[in-house]
Amino acid sequence: MTAELNPRRLAIVPFAQTGARLSGVRNGSEFGRLLPEPAGSHGVGQVFFEAFGELRRNAQGAMSTWIGLAARTTMPMVCQRCLEPVDVDIDFSREFRFVATEAQAELEDDQSEEDVLVSAPDFDLLALVEDELLMALPPSPKHQRCPRPVKLAVADKDFVVAEEVVSPFAVLGQLKTPKV
Ligand SMILES: [Zn+2]
Repeated sequence: MTAELNPRRLAIVPFAQTGARLSGVRNGSEFGRLLPEPAGSHGVGQVFFEAFGELRRNAQGAMSTWIGLAARTTMPMVCQRCLEPVDVDIDFSREFRFVATEAQAELEDDQSEEDVLVSAPDFDLLALVEDELLMALPPSPKHQRCPRPVKLAVADKDFVVAEEVVSPFAVLGQLKTPKV
């Protein structure tokens, strides 16, 4: 069954009605919006995703359409402490309720704390994966342990200034040194 489902064109309602499941691995290059700018020497890692559909009864007794979605990948980012590249693992796991129309989605998204989306017979599940991964990116990525001493990066400006102040004396010293 899983082989017949296309995550780029997923029929949401039947997926939920049948309690279907879908999982896969996609190349990171398929997710254009995740690519770093400028493109680094290494790209986004593979994106692992899995989804399940479910019908649930709401408080009023009506059936509603739900999709659970989770994904993870590794993103090449720049460490905000040492400014060296850092691979950041990101993931999310969320559930979405689907309704029939845009108007209904807007109305219900405001009224409830649930994430409400518009159902479609050809829903792009991987675009939703991409949206969620983008939102899961850390605003300030850092190494757990920076590969180089942090002091150098933090004190960089002072370090350069100190060198400039010192260097004329260093040059004088060199001039005074008798050459043999
Ligand atoms: Zn670092």
